[in-house]
Amino acid sequence: MQPNLLILGGTTEATAISRAVAAAGLKATVSLAGRVERPASQPVPRRIGGFGGITGLAEYLRVHRITHVIDATHPFAARMSRNAIAACAQTSIPLVAFTRPGWTEAAGDHWQRVVNINAAATSLACPPRRVMLAVGRMHLDAFARNPQHFYLLRLVDEPETPPAFPNHHVLLSRGPFSVENDQALMQEFAIELVVSKNSGGTGAFAKIAAARALALPVLMIDRPSLPNRTELFGVQEVLDWIHGAIDRGV
Ligand code: NAP
Repeated sequence: MQPNLLILGGTTEATAISRAVAAAGLKATVSLAGRVERPASQPVPRRIGGFGGITGLAEYLRVHRITHVIDATHPFAARMSRNAIAACAQTSIPLVAFTRPGWTEAAGDHWQRVVNINAAATSLACPPRRVMLAVGRMHLDAFARNPQHFYLLRLVDEPETPPAFPNHHVLLSRGPFSVENDQALMQEFAIELVVSKNSGGTGAFAKIAAARALALPVLMIDRPSLPNRTELFGVQEVLDWIHGAIDRGV
């Protein structure tokens, strides 16, 4: 069987596995949602935009004769991941998730864990504070109900519409970030609270380490839960899974 992989992307993991499969001479396409204005270049062909739910993805898998799906989306891209599980089950196409473990609280951390973005916004019903809000531009609306705070927003692209809270500052950057720089940033803006998704991985961890160094509280948003699936955490493990599946003829 000639493998033809679909990599669901939008993350550093997707870029890393795209490089590895390209280097291994495997045919692959990477799929992006189209949220970022200038996406990182990929070493394999890419397609952009939603598939149209589970049905649309299942149709895409059939039409393009996809043999294996690698879900390398962000741990908070739960709808895409659920759709991938369902569409792969429908079409009997093997699926693996290339992801990263969540962060865990360590000595020196002061975390308050909340179950989702809405719960994070609800728990900000308090007197004004200076907040570093690191949730991405798609989720800013939830915080409109607490316009009393100052929000430091670090985003890849400008928000499509101005945030509905007046007191904010937007920093445009896609990283990588260092603990020293994030610590200096939090001091410069006199940040009192960091709001973060539990994204896991190294790329976004600097702010958590900086908050720890400054003994700042972190409102940590738990990951959405997903149905059971095979999850791997390294490029080589994913390559081994692909080769194993090819060798077994699945
Ligand atoms: P989501 O809520 O799970 O997905 C919403 C819809 O967007 C999906 O149902 C799908 O539309 C489309 N979509 C998502 N990822 C796609 C992909 N890789 N290729 C094609 N269509 C995709 O996802 P999200 O949280 O908005 O994330 C969108 C993208 O940003 C993902 O690629 C993710 O890896 C990346 N990202 C997300 C976060 C985050 O915090 N959420 C952080 C960094 C990067 P259809 O139903 O029409 O197929």
